[in-house]
Amino acid sequence: MARYTGPRCKLCRRLGVKLFSKGERCYGPKCEMEPARHPFPPGPRAQRRRKSSDYALQLKEKQKVRYIYGVLERQFRRSFEEAERRPGATGENLLRLLEMRLDNVIYRLGFADTRNQARQLVTHGHFMVDGRRTNIPSYEIRINQTISVRPESKGLEYFQTLSGELARKSIPGWLSLDATNLIGKVLAAPSREDFEPNINEPLIVEYYSR
Ligand code: SF4
Repeated sequence: MARYTGPRCKLCRRLGVKLFSKGERCYGPKCEMEPARHPFPPGPRAQRRRKSSDYALQLKEKQKVRYIYGVLERQFRRSFEEAERRPGATGENLLRLLEMRLDNVIYRLGFADTRNQARQLVTHGHFMVDGRRTNIPSYEIRINQTISVRPESKGLEYFQTLSGELARKSIPGWLSLDATNLIGKVLAAPSREDFEPNINEPLIVEYYSR
């Protein structure tokens, strides 16, 4: 299960957007994308202004979404092909597929501060889907399925403190959460307004349709 392990703030600077890969730090003054830190793309010629081609814009949008959800190219392309096969707009289908990944649902439920952390918790086998242990981050969650912390993992310090912290967090309307028992449920498929803001998914469709 490969994943990107390079510097994450550098990706934000290269793409010119916050990818929120570092939890709390992304919301504070230490974030490298804060105006006070004069963010500019990495590299010696990065401050030169250049007009981007259509291809560059499409590629950038595709990379941005890929990094937000922590998916490598081959898997991202597979998700795109699956999105094309499903009825409806391909771009929205793609984002819905990404939102319904187990690691993303864990993150949305507040069980982890970042999608990377959620991915790690999943691969370490701390979660069950409908009562069955599942350690595949890309597992596609379906409506009405429940996600819970394994009884063996509930005693860990991380999950002991999590229950209190969850009360402070807000979760999207397509999910429900029993914070005391650490059980989440998918009530509906996420719609367009539930996806990450500032994503221009038609550019991704154009990128793969060249
Ligand atoms: Fe990106 Fe800022 Fe988070 Fe670093 S701290 S990953 S620059 S959003």
